[in-house]
Parts: sequence; C-alpha cells; structure tokens
Amino acid sequence: MEKLKNGYLFPEIGRKQLAHMKKYPDAEVINLGIGDTSEPIPRIITKAMAEYSLGLSTMEGYRGYGPEQGEKELRRAIAGTFYRNTGVKDTEVFISDGAQCDIARLQLLFGSNVTIAVQDPTFPAYVDSSIIIGQTGECADYGKYNRIEYLSCSPENLFFPNLSSIRPTDIIFFCSPNNPTGHAASRNQLEQLVETARRNGSIIVYDSAYAAYISDDSPRSIYEIPGSEEVAIEVSSFSKCAGFTGVRLGWTVIPEELRYSNGFAVHKDFDRIICTCFNGASNIAQAGGLACLTPEGHEALQGVISFYKENASILAETLSSIGLQVYGGQSSPYIWVHFPGAKSWEVFAEVLEKTHIITVPGSGFGPSGESFLRISAFNHRELIIEACNRFKRFFK
Ligand code: PLP
Repeated sequence: MEKLKNGYLFPEIGRKQLAHMKKYPDAEVINLGIGDTSEPIPRIITKAMAEYSLGLSTMEGYRGYGPEQGEKELRRAIAGTFYRNTGVKDTEVFISDGAQCDIARLQLLFGSNVTIAVQDPTFPAYVDSSIIIGQTGECADYGKYNRIEYLSCSPENLFFPNLSSIRPTDIIFFCSPNNPTGHAASRNQLEQLVETARRNGSIIVYDSAYAAYISDDSPRSIYEIPGSEEVAIEVSSFSKCAGFTGVRLGWTVIPEELRYSNGFAVHKDFDRIICTCFNGASNIAQAGGLACLTPEGHEALQGVISFYKENASILAETLSSIGLQVYGGQSSPYIWVHFPGAKSWEVFAEVLEKTHIITVPGSGFGPSGESFLRISAFNHRELIIEACNRFKRFFK
C-alpha cells in the first residue's frame, strides 16, 4: 500500500471538484471526468429487476444464496449473445459484481510472484491492483514501476504497441477499446497480441468493457482470434453498455483450455477464488442482466449507446474545429485530446478554472498519457452542448 504513489485517480479528481465548487459556489460545474453513465436504464430492464425484487417478498419468489458462478440462465445468455461462434461455453462464464472487482480477484489468483505488462496509457486499476498485491517493485523514474512492462501507445504508433520488442511477462493486461485512448485493436493487431502471448507463455487479461461502442469491424472479443482460448481471460461488464455502473454486474470468461505451464486449469483456481472471496452477484442485478439480453432489452440498449456515441462525435468535432488534436470517440465514449508540451494536471486545472468543466488528466492513466486530457461523453445532451460552447470560448 505504501508504494501507491497517488490516491486512486477518480476519487482524487472528485476531491478537486469539491474544492472547486467551494471556491465557486455559483458555478455550474459540468462533469466530463469519471466515465460514469448519465442516462436512465430502459424500463424493460428496471421492470425485470423490480419484479424480481418484489418476488423476494413472496414464498414462491424468495431466493437466498445463488450459485457463486452466477445464474445458469444468465451465463448461457452471455455465452450466446457476446460469444456466439467463438466456442465459449456457459460454464466458462463467471458472473461478477463488475469488471473492476474481477480484476482484483484475478490479481489475488495470480499473487505477488508474477510480472505484468500494461498498455500505457490505460485504465488505472490494473497497475494499482498490481502494486497492492506486491507485483511491481519500486516506483522509479517518470512514475514507472520497475517490474511492470509499459507498452507505450501514442499517436506515433497509432495507439498500438510494438510487441516485437517487449520484455516477456507472465500477464498482459490489454483493454480494447482502450480507456482512455479510445483505440479499438484490429483483428490483425489482436492476432499479434495472441501470438506474442503464446510465444512468451503469457496470460492475456483482455478487458472488453467498451466492446459495445465499437463502430468498425474490430473484434468485440479476444475469442474471435483462433488460439486465444489457450492464453486469454476476458473481463467485461454491464456498466457501460447498460448503465449498470451503480447496479453492479459484470462477467469474466476463463476457457477450460487455459492452463498454467504445469498443465493445471486456471478455470478451477478461479472457481475456488470466487467461492472463497465473492459468493456470487446480486440476484436482482442478474435479473436485470438477463433482461438486457432479451431482444427487446438489447435493442433498447443500442439506443442509449448510440446517444453516447453521438455525444462523443459532437465533442470530437467541436474540439477538432478549434484546432486541437483529437483522438478516440469513434469506438469509445472517450475523447483523447493532445496538448503537446503541456503537463496534463496543469491543463486539467486551467480548463477547470476557466470553464468549470471536469476532465481527466492523461498522466493519471500512465506516463505516456502526459500532455493529454480525457474527456468523457457520458452526460446529458444539453450539458455536452454547453460544454462545447465553453470549450469554444476558452480555446479561441
Ligand atoms: N474496465 C475498464 C476499462 C473501465 O474503464 C472500467 C470503468 O470505468 C471498468 C473496467 C470498471 O467496470 P465495472 O463498473 O464493471 O467495475
């Protein structure tokens, strides 16, 4: 814990927002910072949760503990919806209370005696959980930890790392579409990733939390790549595709073919971890998850996702039109804006001071995020438009 250099990024930004609101009590602060969803969950989904919940007050509808791995019907629906034609079986899908919690449970499974690689920049939970479990060694220059292999993703390499020169590690965390850069890895790039993991004996932990935002033909899952079932775990979530950030529901796929070098199945160990350290996701949330995967629920969710993508395109167009270098936003709800030569915390502070808009400093996602800001498209349309007007006035 002592090695954690900063507080967790998002609570830190929350503290800065509170301080700003104290300083300017009359300002209307617009939050384009933490990637929290803003639009209501379609009624067909909340209705299913409400009905399940009311059923708990009846003799017929009451349920206590469920299977630790999740309800069979939901595991089957996830395998059939997100992994059709990939060979993933329902017994390989473990239902969770969210991707972030499963990342921590996977770290518990791996233990302190492994090395990891991460995209740089990327979602902070991989590095922070790795520090907490004791994998990283000391923090050295530029906020990098000695035993972490940082896979630099920048405009120069079109946000995909050069895998031919990386130091082999036991684990590779890989997020696509990437938070924060918004880059969705192509089929060819994921083939390179799987090939690298196979060659180096690494396990990929593939985070597909934003798969629903992909606009082109990039794979939605690592299991679209042949051979990945022997080297990859996939972590995913209902948070960003169904507005379940508060409801809490996600899943992790561990194929039976994934083995340690001694031939033992990773699947069996993960099962043991969740039985010991989890006990299963909320049955009400699981009823909601099942409703998301009915044809009507799924269709309703596409409307919400399209809304956020339209927000992203309004933000990207505005920021480009005022001459900023803008990335992401097409297959992701995040815009990644470059301020060459500037320090991201300073740009964050200046934007907040002058526009009352909360963003996220890019350096919070890793050393290669320095001089970038991440701007989230999760907000109501009128606030996105108001934010665009403020950006136009500020950057003129
Ligand atoms: N993975 C990525 C890449 C994320 O950006 C987030 C949240 O922002 C999560 C996981 C956390 O997901 P959950 O809400 O399911 O814990």
